[in-house]
Amino acid sequence: MSDTVQKHPSEEELIQYALGQECGELEEHITTCSQCYEFVEEMRIVKAAFSHIDEQPVSGSVRNKIFESIKKDTSLSKISHFIQHWYTYPFFIGLLTIFWVLFLYFIYIFSQ
Ligand SMILES: [Zn+2]
Repeated sequence: MSDTVQKHPSEEELIQYALGQECGELEEHITTCSQCYEFVEEMRIVKAAFSHIDEQPVSGSVRNKIFESIKKDTSLSKISHFIQHWYTYPFFIGLLTIFWVLFLYFIYIFSQ
């Protein structure tokens, strides 16, 4: 075993190399060290697998679920929640009743 084989580069360096970063010293080491060569090959397989996933189109239902989960925290969803469940707010029911009574009162007054 030579010195270059015994002194392995860090995993980070090997990953950078596997992802395509040029490094002459690393390349020299990898050609002589089977352990690092296998690691780099594994990283290249992982990289290929992930790049394949990225290329796949996202289906409409998955996209909708993602948008729904993002929308949940926005104020717009709070407004739409209020519109759908307005009858569950006692204050709003009271306010609506007051306006309805006033409306009927003014109709009664002006119809005299
Ligand atoms: Zn090595």
